[in-house]
Amino acid sequence: MAISEFDVIERFFARQAPHRGDVVLGIGDDAAVLQPPAGCLLSVAVDTLVAGRHFPQATAPGDIGHKALAVNLSDLAAMGAEPLWATLALTIPDPDEAWLADFARGFFELANQHGVALVGGDTTRGPLSVTVQVMGSLHPEQVMRRDSAAPGQRIFVTGTPGDAAFALRQLQARVEVDAWLLERLNRPQPRVAFGRALAALGACAIDVSDGLLADLGHVLDASDCGAKLNVDRLPRSEALRDQPGDAVLECQLGGGDDYELCFSVDAGQVDDVRQLAAQHHLRVTEIGLMEAQSGIRCLHDDGSPCKIRAAGFDHFA
Ligand code: ADP
Ligand code: MG
Repeated sequence: MAISEFDVIERFFARQAPHRGDVVLGIGDDAAVLQPPAGCLLSVAVDTLVAGRHFPQATAPGDIGHKALAVNLSDLAAMGAEPLWATLALTIPDPDEAWLADFARGFFELANQHGVALVGGDTTRGPLSVTVQVMGSLHPEQVMRRDSAAPGQRIFVTGTPGDAAFALRQLQARVEVDAWLLERLNRPQPRVAFGRALAALGACAIDVSDGLLADLGHVLDASDCGAKLNVDRLPRSEALRDQPGDAVLECQLGGGDDYELCFSVDAGQVDDVRQLAAQHHLRVTEIGLMEAQSGIRCLHDDGSPCKIRAAGFDHFA
C-alpha cells in the first residue's frame, strides 16, 4: 500500500468527521463511546453497497460515498428518527488517494447536511464494498412501525418514485441519461426532516428502496391489511413526461433505489400532511387507500385494473 491504513483513516475520515458534543470518544479508540439523548430510544440501521451489485462499477466515488450514507439515513427517516452518528466499514482494492478524497467528499457533504458524526469504522483491502451503519434517536411515542397501518387510511408517497430505476435502465441500455434523473439515482435525498414530522403525526411509513409495490407490500404484510392504488395518480417527474407510459409505470411501481417515503395516515390527517409537505417544500401525493381485503389492487382513474405487471406485482395479486 502506498499509504498506510492508518493514514487513510486519519487523512480521509478522522480529520474530516463533523463533531458532536454527544460523542464522548470518536474515531481513534477501540470503540466509540456515545451519549444518547435523555429519554430517547436509539434506532440503528446498517446497509452494505457492493460494487457491480448495488451500483455500476463506473459510479463516481463521491456518488458512492453519498449513497452509502443516504440509504441508511433513509431507513432512519422511515422510522422517524433524528440521525446522530454513523460508522463506516470500507473495503477497497487499493488506497487510491483521489478516489478516497472524492468518496469522503460525497460522504461528508451529506453527513454535514444532517449533522451526523462519523464515530468509527473499519478499513480493509478487497473488492470494493461499503458498509455504513447509522444511529439515531427516537421519541418513545413516535416510532413509525410497519405494522401500524389500518384500513381507511390514505396512502401517500413523497417525490417521484421511478426516476432512479428509469435512469438505471437508460444507463444499462447505453442511451443518453438525463442529468436530473442520474442525480436521482446517484444522489438520493433521504427525507429525514419530513420523516420526523410524520412520526409526530403518528403515520405508518416505509422507505421505497426496493420498489413501491414491494415496499408497500411489507407494510401490508406487517399490518395485516391490503391496499388500493390509483396508478394514474402516481407522481411523474418532468424528466419522464415524454417517456412511454408503460415503461414509466413499471419503474414507478417496481423500480427501486428512490429512497422516498411511502406512508399512511388517518383520513382526518390529510390536511396536516398537505401542510407539512408545503412546510418542507416536498412534493407529496395521495396515491391510494388502505383496505381490509389483503393484496394490492392497482386501478386506473375509471376503476379498470392496471395491466402493468411490475416486478413483485404477482406476489401481491
Ligand atoms: P481496531 O484494530 O481497534 O479495530 P482499527 O485499526 O480498525 O482499530 O481502527 C482504528 C480506529 O479508526 C478505530 O477507532 C476505528 O473505529 C477507526 N476507523 C477505522 N476505519 C475507519 C473508517 N473507514 N472510517 C472511520 N473510522 C474508522
Ligand atoms: Mg478494526
